[in-house]
Amino acid sequence: TLSDRITDSFKNLKGKGRLTDADIDTTIGEIRRALLDADVALPAVRAFTSQVREKARGAELSAALNPGQQIIKIVNDELIQILGGSTRELHFAKSGPTVIMLAGLQGAGKTTLAGKLGKWLREAGHTPLLVASDLQRPNAVMQLQVIGEQAGVPVWAPEPGNGVGNPVEVARSGLATAKSRLHDVVIVDTAGRLGVDEEMMQQAIDIRDAVNPDEILFVLDAMIGQDAVHTAEAFRDGVGFTGVVLSKLDGDARGGAALSVRTVTGVPVLFASTGEKLGDFERFHADRMASRILDMGDVLTLIEQAEKAFDEGEVEKMAEKLGRGEFTLDDFLKQLGQLRRMGSMKKMLGMLPGMGQLRDQLDNFDDREVDRIEAIVRSMTPAERANVKILNGSRRSRIARGSGTTVTEVNGLVERFLQAKTMMESMARGGPSMGGVPGMG
Ligand code: GDP
Ligand code: MG
Repeated sequence: TLSDRITDSFKNLKGKGRLTDADIDTTIGEIRRALLDADVALPAVRAFTSQVREKARGAELSAALNPGQQIIKIVNDELIQILGGSTRELHFAKSGPTVIMLAGLQGAGKTTLAGKLGKWLREAGHTPLLVASDLQRPNAVMQLQVIGEQAGVPVWAPEPGNGVGNPVEVARSGLATAKSRLHDVVIVDTAGRLGVDEEMMQQAIDIRDAVNPDEILFVLDAMIGQDAVHTAEAFRDGVGFTGVVLSKLDGDARGGAALSVRTVTGVPVLFASTGEKLGDFERFHADRMASRILDMGDVLTLIEQAEKAFDEGEVEKMAEKLGRGEFTLDDFLKQLGQLRRMGSMKKMLGMLPGMGQLRDQLDNFDDREVDRIEAIVRSMTPAERANVKILNGSRRSRIARGSGTTVTEVNGLVERFLQAKTMMESMARGGPSMGGVPGMG
């Protein structure tokens, strides 16, 4: 995976502490390959990597992350931003029914989406009407009727007298019906072809002009890979669209189409379709898509957690104290709190290179343990916390009573604290580096 490759390329750079052009180039090479693997189109890959290079060059160095992690973070942040940051809402009409028109190639998932969107809107309190303006395939109307029934949403289908054989008339009469029956949203399903052709595009344009949509959603099969760009361009230049829906994200596709389409058209992705069932549908999340495209969710989680728990000022103070041999139980407690915020210790240590030694020592570390340690330390007086040497037998049994633990547990904690203190003080004097874990760098 990308994360392995990047971790590997930075094995020898640990502790170097600054991003060089060579670091950036190494990582960008890997990112480029990952994006191409994810089926991002070449122009989009180029635009993206050059943007990342700029950002990485000007980046402030982070004490929490090694160079590889830092570039990954920049890549991830940039990708999220390009994919659209937080999700845009559907635009609703100020008065009268909101018209949502669906466009896209045959098989992209338009008709299925009509049902998904209809159900989703109905559950949000709207009263949608589905309009069957795909008269191209023999079963298209029937398919929408079946889906509408499943979704609990009425379907406007052509009948003698209201536009049989004329998709534009069906759309027009559907909208008129929605107005008279007080539906607040109209979803117009349209025909697609396997490839883009002029006749189909003209039909879409005619439907568009007949109903004046508030949103035209371009439905794109995430599996079509590199072709996404050409198809998106054809629809942009033809009927045009205001939003993108990525379908079939339940498949293997890593979703590079999202980045391609966004880069080429600038139009945001609004929804993601993730299966054949009507419930397999969600708002598009740029951050999830970024992890999917980069195929490195684990590293990103780690980076996020490290950053959250990391407080540079604290770490500096801690390092000074360690150097002077002044590390106290209060400091220990603070550190445990930070470690706890980093989530599952073992998982985290497994993700960090070179942490095997510490991982073994902390193998028995769990959250309840931290709760107990916290209770014990909180039952100590400030003088005791500052200097464990004064903890005689009667103090220890008072602390055990106060914290609801036993003297044995108090003794265990004191012992472990002294061990940790020795270990960390020796590291602070230049022992093995623990870069990456807060307070241990
Ligand atoms: P249309 O030609 O654009 O209207 O596409 P359809 O809605 O008829 O979908 C084509 C096929 O893709 C159908 O078999 C759908 O069940 C299937 N499909 C649609 N969306 C998804 C999806 O998100 N995931 C999966 N796995 N299949 C989908
Ligand atoms: Mg269809």
